[in-house]
Amino acid sequence: MDIKTPRLAHQAQNPMFRLGALVHGRDDILHLEFGEPDFPTPAHIVEAAMRSLRSEKQGYGPSNGLSSLREAIAARVARVNRFTPSADQIIATPGGTGALMAALLCLCSPGDEVLVPDPAWAGYDGMLAVAGARMVRYPLRADAGWQPDLAALASLITLHTKVLLLNSPSNPAGAVYPRETVAALVELATRHALWILSDECYDQLVYSGEHVSPATLDPNQRVITVGTCSKTYAMTGWRVGWLVAPPALAGGLNVTVAAQVNNLPTFVQRAAEAALTGPQDCAQSMFAAYRERRDLAVDLLRARSRLSYIPEGAFYLLIALSEQTGDLPYDSIQFAEALIAERGIAIAPGAAFGAGAARYARISLASSPETLRAGINGLLDFAQEYEQRHAKP
Ligand code: PLP
Repeated sequence: MDIKTPRLAHQAQNPMFRLGALVHGRDDILHLEFGEPDFPTPAHIVEAAMRSLRSEKQGYGPSNGLSSLREAIAARVARVNRFTPSADQIIATPGGTGALMAALLCLCSPGDEVLVPDPAWAGYDGMLAVAGARMVRYPLRADAGWQPDLAALASLITLHTKVLLLNSPSNPAGAVYPRETVAALVELATRHALWILSDECYDQLVYSGEHVSPATLDPNQRVITVGTCSKTYAMTGWRVGWLVAPPALAGGLNVTVAAQVNNLPTFVQRAAEAALTGPQDCAQSMFAAYRERRDLAVDLLRARSRLSYIPEGAFYLLIALSEQTGDLPYDSIQFAEALIAERGIAIAPGAAFGAGAARYARISLASSPETLRAGINGLLDFAQEYEQRHAKP
């Protein structure tokens, strides 16, 4: 008799992660594919981890995180996100990834529908598959600054819809949702009794406009807010983020995180505490560098008449691969593979983020100015040549 079929045996990996693995650690490649700051983690954060390793026991700890870290996160949420959770509503997680995964596992029963932006960060596909939830994409409109199309979103809500996933500042476009849009989204979720899962991993990277946390406009406590140290403090590999739970969900979310990881390493939590409570000038100077890089990329694209949208937040930029409108005459994933093989440039193909970005390549502005300059020009030259290669005779 054949062995019984595992649920995820045939789950495909998002192509962005497959391409990323292909070029990981290669210094013969111009890396524009991942949101990976090229700055080292600031020295005082590293030192806090070293101090912890030298001076305190690295044992099991509370599954929601050390109380001093949860206090530091609660204070940070009050400062940046502008609402005031108690430390009991905070759960430390392995990055924003761990927070999002725990929230989906806690909220969703198999078959529940989760509304996910199109385009959206490539990590959500796998999480929804693991949670057994169904991904329903709602459109972000390129011609409206990659903002959600509220009417289209409302039309996708069914009796099975459980969660509305929001991400502002957004990946991959870098859009920041204005207050009235966030208010309309909270109102829609309230009308349909949905949970909001608000991915705010880029909340400290806002170049224009203001960051509005949905939780500030939510009297009914239906918003779960996700944050991370990864992007603001160049701590991607440390794996520390958090959930801010509505009071009614704090217990369930804590059980979900505990079941997956038990607790974060103590030295990592001490590093996060140092990041959140220590001097913030390091974060401010990295932010200033990202803004300069965004402006450089915008100038380079404008000079070639290829600028379609100026990101207001996060550190990504979408570049249309063709000057023609309509579908690309080639597969954008194969294009990304050819760009690596023939020009040594790695980008994230827009199709990895959803059909809504299939005509685009996403570049990361967390790369050095030299890499951006050579990468953007090389990408545009190659896209032109590749299109001619695939033109119908
Ligand atoms: N959410 C979004 C929108 C992201 O772009 C990323 C990482 O790129 C994450 C979450 C995960 O971040 P972390 O490193 O904190 O797990």
